[in-house]
Amino acid sequence: MRIHTDKPDEVRQAIYDATRKLPGVYATTTSHGSRSHAGAIELSLEGNGRAKNTGQYGAGYEIGATWDEWGVVFAAIFDADSDAVAGSVKRPVYAGEVDYRRKTQYRFDADGLPEDTHQRHAWKDAGTRIQYCTKCSAGRNFS
Ligand SMILES: [Zn+2]
Repeated sequence: MRIHTDKPDEVRQAIYDATRKLPGVYATTTSHGSRSHAGAIELSLEGNGRAKNTGQYGAGYEIGATWDEWGVVFAAIFDADSDAVAGSVKRPVYAGEVDYRRKTQYRFDADGLPEDTHQRHAWKDAGTRIQYCTKCSAGRNFS
């Protein structure tokens, strides 16, 4: 997952501070240039998800770590830079903190996993572009 940010040092530190609190989650980051921001970080997370990380660019952010593990790390990233952009600038996965909070239905904070976290959410449509997990309180909004 590519993170574009004007605060690459702070964001990188926030990533490692967050993963230190998450058992079995390990971050790998590499630094890149960004046309839109001061820099970009390519982040991959090993975690407790089911799928194995292929290491392939663009393979998807649910691979390796669970959706909740990614969510906590993103909370830390946006705490460090609320204007960071995840994904590509043209087609962002999260275009800043407000967008991230809404899309993840205000589930996460940087302190650790939600109490009802589990390995793989069972997403069920709950209206146009909104899904909730049938097994916990997680929700996501694609609009
Ligand atoms: Zn769930």
